[in-house]
Amino acid sequence: MATVADTKLYDILGVPPGATDNELKKAYRKLAKEYHPDKNPNAGDKFKEISFAYEVLSNPEKRELYDRYGEQGLREGSGGSGGMDDIFSHIFGGGLFSFMGNQSRSRNGRRRGEDMMHPLKVSLEDLYNGKTTKLQLSKNVLCSSCNGQGGKSGAVQKCSACRGRGVRIMIRQLAPGMVQQMQSVCSDCNGEGEVINEKDRCKKCEGKKVIKEVKILEVHVDKGMKHGQRITFTGEADQAPGVEPGDIVLLLQEKENEVFQREGNDLHMTHKIGLVEALCGFQFTFKHLDGRQIVVKYPPGKVIEPGCVRVVRGEGMPQYRNPFEKGDLYIKFDVQFPENNWISPEKLSELEDLLPSRPEVPPVIGDTEEVDLQEFDNTRGSGGGQRREAYNDSSDEESIHHGPGVQCAHQ
Ligand SMILES: [Zn+2]
Ligand SMILES: [Zn+2]
Repeated sequence: MATVADTKLYDILGVPPGATDNELKKAYRKLAKEYHPDKNPNAGDKFKEISFAYEVLSNPEKRELYDRYGEQGLREGSGGSGGMDDIFSHIFGGGLFSFMGNQSRSRNGRRRGEDMMHPLKVSLEDLYNGKTTKLQLSKNVLCSSCNGQGGKSGAVQKCSACRGRGVRIMIRQLAPGMVQQMQSVCSDCNGEGEVINEKDRCKKCEGKKVIKEVKILEVHVDKGMKHGQRITFTGEADQAPGVEPGDIVLLLQEKENEVFQREGNDLHMTHKIGLVEALCGFQFTFKHLDGRQIVVKYPPGKVIEPGCVRVVRGEGMPQYRNPFEKGDLYIKFDVQFPENNWISPEKLSELEDLLPSRPEVPPVIGDTEEVDLQEFDNTRGSGGGQRREAYNDSSDEESIHHGPGVQCAHQ
């Protein structure tokens, strides 16, 4: 089984990390039913946790991020989904959008500074063609004037109030045999553990040991990189005395494209054609992400059904680190039918002679009732139908998802 960074969300649903989609769905349904606020008004948080865990784990992209990077992967991959912050901090602690890494100890035991995480927005064109960009950021570096000492050598003294620990511990007796221990940041040294006399302070950094410096990083966005991928600059985060600097981590955020939607290395687009093109062949041109004009031809005699998908092999996104290999381009056809009464009744019967003939209708025996077929606005909903909710839907039917190219496979 693959190792995962964190199992908390799996634990919430009570499934092992390797659980299949079906197992996840079953576990979710069972728990959602049990903890639904209608039945169990005091379990609101639990219900939200369950919903959040399922939302993440049922989404392959989010699940991969979570398996690989744990909660951190979700923080960065979330791209700002509103309203999730509360429940996120409820489960993991800390806000969803606090773009900060965790402190950890480095191999040599020296304290390691925090990683600095920056989102980097990139267009699909940039991810297709690759791009080098310069990123300007401000960071703390050790003061060169005092070598990060804060003053002349010898000027730095251990804080006497806290004996250099930066914190003071106070013990209060609450009752005989019962004491309360409180810890607070030392006010004499502001938790630094050391003090420097005013006159001995370094002029350049005013005793702060570090100064702000503008740093320009050259960022190489390679062909085929993906949303959520990280570009790491090792040891480039804030410097501090006695601390090994953390990394600057850029997190790629793919911007939406007007024409193409990306799925892994494949691209998807929709193209509108008329009925005549759907039946009699067509040709159209579009501009690819690298600026090439691509001509798509479909010969007369081949038919395009409304909503069907055709594929152009090798015109998807380049593979990361293997850019000469590309994914595929899926084109979905939106067939525009003519308006009502677009043709005279005489021409219509001529057209009927040309079209494939109607199916034969068997004669009806017994009473019949004729009904009226009316226009229906799809966006308004049927009104009379019941809203189906996942938690009271006990049937086990799957929502069938047609993968690209599955529809209308015949030629
Ligand atoms: Zn200095
Ligand atoms: Zn102190």
